[in-house]
Amino acid sequence: MPYRAPLSEFTFLLDVVGFAEVAATDRFAEASPDTVAAILSEAGKLCETLTPLNRAGDKHPARLENGVVRTSPGFAEGYRAIATGGWVGMSASPEFGGMGLPISVTTCVNDMMGSACLALQLNPLMTQGQIEALEHHASDALKSMYIPKLVSGEWCGTMNLTESQAGSDVGAVRTKAEALGDGTYAITGQKIFISWGDNDFSGNVCHLVLARLPDGPEGTKGISLFMVPKMIPDADGNPGARNTLHVVSLEHKLGLHGSPTAVMQYDAAQGWLIGEPHKGMAAMFTMMNNARLGVGMQGVAVAEAAFQQALSYAMDRKQGRTPLGSGAIIDHADVRRMLAEMKAEVFSARAIGLACAVAIDMARATGSAEWQARAALLTPIAKAYGTDTGCEVAHLGVQVHGGMGFIEETGAAQFSRDVRVTAIYEGTNGIQAMDLVARKMMDHGEAAYRLFDEVQAAAEMARGKHPDLAGAVWISAEAMREATEGLIAMPLQDRFAGAAPYLRAFARVLGGHFHLKSALADPGRLALAEFATKRLLPEYASLLAQVREGAAGLYALTPEALSA
Ligand SMILES: Cc1cc2nc3c(=O)[nH]c(=O)nc-3n(C[C@H](O)[C@H](O)[C@H](O)COP(=O)(O)OP(=O)(O)OC[C@H]3O[C@@H](n4cnc5c(N)ncnc54)[C@H](O)[C@@H]3O)c2cc1C
Repeated sequence: MPYRAPLSEFTFLLDVVGFAEVAATDRFAEASPDTVAAILSEAGKLCETLTPLNRAGDKHPARLENGVVRTSPGFAEGYRAIATGGWVGMSASPEFGGMGLPISVTTCVNDMMGSACLALQLNPLMTQGQIEALEHHASDALKSMYIPKLVSGEWCGTMNLTESQAGSDVGAVRTKAEALGDGTYAITGQKIFISWGDNDFSGNVCHLVLARLPDGPEGTKGISLFMVPKMIPDADGNPGARNTLHVVSLEHKLGLHGSPTAVMQYDAAQGWLIGEPHKGMAAMFTMMNNARLGVGMQGVAVAEAAFQQALSYAMDRKQGRTPLGSGAIIDHADVRRMLAEMKAEVFSARAIGLACAVAIDMARATGSAEWQARAALLTPIAKAYGTDTGCEVAHLGVQVHGGMGFIEETGAAQFSRDVRVTAIYEGTNGIQAMDLVARKMMDHGEAAYRLFDEVQAAAEMARGKHPDLAGAVWISAEAMREATEGLIAMPLQDRFAGAAPYLRAFARVLGGHFHLKSALADPGRLALAEFATKRLLPEYASLLAQVREGAAGLYALTPEALSA
């Protein structure tokens, strides 16, 4: 079955996560329900037409020919359709040609585009992050030079952090930047794993590169951010001389074959400083936070596509006698369980991602510190849980297909291969969890406690109609509150040992909360909410037991003990 854009799901979920508050702000007053529905419907139509590119990219990966990246068949046309539709710069400022739409709406569009073709969607996602970083940190001259062309999709953007010795440890970056005396810099070094490091369909590729100035202190505090374009814009802003950078090679990967992952070499390439010297990490974080939510939704996007396909297969495939007599495997209890889990998880992860997007929009529209803290708290959860969900749901999708899931023709295996990297890039999910229990708890848990208060207040309101579900959600939020108090009292190393289970437990409770709200809003969703609350939510208890254990038991498993 071809992918169908889940438009009514977006409308419903935007309601559940409180998008009405965003639309009620002056900044986003134009995002009325009708306008949003029309935008999503248009985007949905486009995304449904992009789906054939997914297989094309997998079968015919991007390749490097004589130093030039040749993209997969159809990707250039697909990219042009995305760019001319205005979908790259949806949330960019109208001052630079963007539509100024809420991130919540862009998040829904990215979700559909990622379902259609993840490898291609990664390209505009990178550009969107770059636009945001430039809007916040670049000089006026650089803004007017680059942003309009990125917004229109004429040019593409990349992010260059990783080096062979600097992966999760970004502070180990060695790429050098030296002042050329005319306000620009010579950038020298090698970056690895650069997504869409080059392509054959945009007029320019604009690299945001982390590099170290000669007086830059060690670690993250000594890193600066530079714009290093492939073609140096001339006085009229058109692509001019070729910069001294090139693609050395493209990686052979488990999946996401349509996205060229490049080793980039910079040989005294001309670069322009973005923001203050040595403050590159702060500027890059603007891009990374945007990209973290975006990558979380990539997980949801693939999960949605994998679910739709598995559901369709399970309704057609007949095996043995089923309790309901149809013979279709969907009527076997175990297959029904897998499909229900897939649907419930897609709902939870999407709700968390959209709640994060709403918080970002509210923070922008109101400047409120509380909304900022909410967005910051939810970002690592949206990233890690969204992408874990992508991996788990795609994995279940293979299982629902049985042997055909292992055969490439069905596409089930490709979903599983493609989505795997989303749990790794943009900060591994382990790093996200550490961010949640350390940086995001520097307010002594205030933002988390405020969220637990909301979950419990909503559960109280639901008690009359759904006492069992409301009771379970309320108790789970109370357990999270107690676990959070315990976590904050722990030394960092103990927190880190329980970080991943803590993040998952947090997501479980939020998932229960949103399922409960959905059952209240629409009785047709009660069965799914009951499934999620009775069968998935209880996992929080075993996860929190791990959180309480701290680090000692882990480190007791010495390398020798592990090797024994
Ligand atoms: C397909 C693909 C596309 C990519 N695109 C880009 C891109 O466009 N731009 C870019 O700059 N980079 C990109 N990357 C790089 C990506 O962001 C890194 O791979 C990722 O950050 C992890 O770094 P690493 O691979 O060096 O793993 P490592 O940092 O070596 O991590 C290995 C393991 O150790 C864990 N670990 C590491 N440090 C810690 C710590 N302090 N505490 C606890 N656990 C830790 C990690 O969680 C992981 O499980 C891409 C990677 C891939 C595979």
